[in-house]
Amino acid sequence: MSDAALSAGPTTNAPAPEPAPASASEPAPASAPAPAPAPAPAPADAPAEASTSAALQEGSSFADVSHYFAEAANRLGIDDGLRTVVQMPEREVQVQIPVRLSDGRMHVFTGYRVQHNSARGPYKGGLRYHEQVSLDEVRALAALMTWKTAIVDIPFGGAKGGVDCIAHDLSDDELELVTRVFVDRTADVLGPNHDIPAPDVNTGPAVMSWIMDEYGKLHGDNPAVVTGKPVSLGGSVGRESATGRGVVLAFQEAARALDLQPSATRVVVQGFGNVGSWAAQIATESGCKVIGVSNTSGAIHSQAGIDPNALLAHIAQGGTLVEYAQAAHAQGVEQITPRELLALECEVLIPAALGGVIHADNAGAVRARMLVEGANNPTTPQADAILGDRGVLVIPDVLANAGGVIVSYFEWAQNLQHFSWDAQEVNDRLATRMRRAYAQVAERAHANQTSMRIAAYELGIGRVVEAGRMRRHSGYV
Ligand code: GLU
Repeated sequence: MSDAALSAGPTTNAPAPEPAPASASEPAPASAPAPAPAPAPAPADAPAEASTSAALQEGSSFADVSHYFAEAANRLGIDDGLRTVVQMPEREVQVQIPVRLSDGRMHVFTGYRVQHNSARGPYKGGLRYHEQVSLDEVRALAALMTWKTAIVDIPFGGAKGGVDCIAHDLSDDELELVTRVFVDRTADVLGPNHDIPAPDVNTGPAVMSWIMDEYGKLHGDNPAVVTGKPVSLGGSVGRESATGRGVVLAFQEAARALDLQPSATRVVVQGFGNVGSWAAQIATESGCKVIGVSNTSGAIHSQAGIDPNALLAHIAQGGTLVEYAQAAHAQGVEQITPRELLALECEVLIPAALGGVIHADNAGAVRARMLVEGANNPTTPQADAILGDRGVLVIPDVLANAGGVIVSYFEWAQNLQHFSWDAQEVNDRLATRMRRAYAQVAERAHANQTSMRIAAYELGIGRVVEAGRMRRHSGYV
């Protein structure tokens, strides 16, 4: 591990970055205001934009999610007491993760698991390893999971976890240790019927295997405790591609309404990790043309189209986007800046990396017909308003990127039945659920003359409140 990796958090007994308790905390009292806004995290793959003051002044991630929540809750006429119950997390867990690194030093990482809401079922949501992880961000992402699972109508609540580390600077052995200590210290609140983690930024099947194994040592083997596992350990076929596939299904539904043919659909993908690369591949297979791609190494553009498979093979060999542009220059591939990428004229722009990348400073430059949010929370409320005024259709994260958790639900259901489905069945069932949710949100947005985002939040909040009332959960009745 390099020194740089240590800059994300305290080394040896330094204080934790957030003054939250070291173990499970109780929900905020009904009168508690939303936490004060903190600076928004800088998007890792858009360094030029990240440094702008506008991006930093736009509020915290949780404040952003709370903004959308408040607008939908107002429209639903939810009273103040219930509003606080539903808006704030039910439980927040913060743990210390001391790990002896390969160079002999002890480093203390901070881990979080925020359990936002359980009215509709066990808590569900990913675990993220990133240097921007904070309690505020995990809270926001946990709330998004509550609305997402309700909008696509799967029997889960919402949660999220994170560890503040620079994942790519840690060795596999160090990542495994971080994961096992995180599970040891949160195992009391996890479980197949309590809280089920899954992959998120910088975590994948390997981390999920370690979670399953460590949990199994403490509570007995049970693959349903985590989703996104390798298929050989009870994972579901189709889980890895599910979020990207869902993103494509979402814009295909919008394209149908706009009478937009795949051959006339130019796609730009910001972030070429799991979600972005699968979305690019599946969009290309369906006849669309990917004309722009970016990742942390840069951004590239080609009017003739970029072959996602060739690009993936190049990246798998350690290549950067700039090197790809140099090698493919003759085929019309050119290097551009991350800011130019967001301003490319296209039909579909997919932010598929981190939160806060579309903000007040760059939203006016977007020349896409629709923005399909593959990432969680990529658009600040200020940017959302600018895009709305300019007639850009925004398909919100809580709908557009729900494919991942839908197939996590399938994985969990298969594990509980000790049975496995084939790829066709998984993908068909995913498509049915995505299309149904899209239709319900679009119908509501049309009927209520509001945006897809607010209609989606209304749908999700309504379902959570209904479930809490039926259970007669404290705070709902
Ligand atoms: N991390 C993904 C998300 O944000 C998937 C969560 C899950 O499968 O539980 O939706």
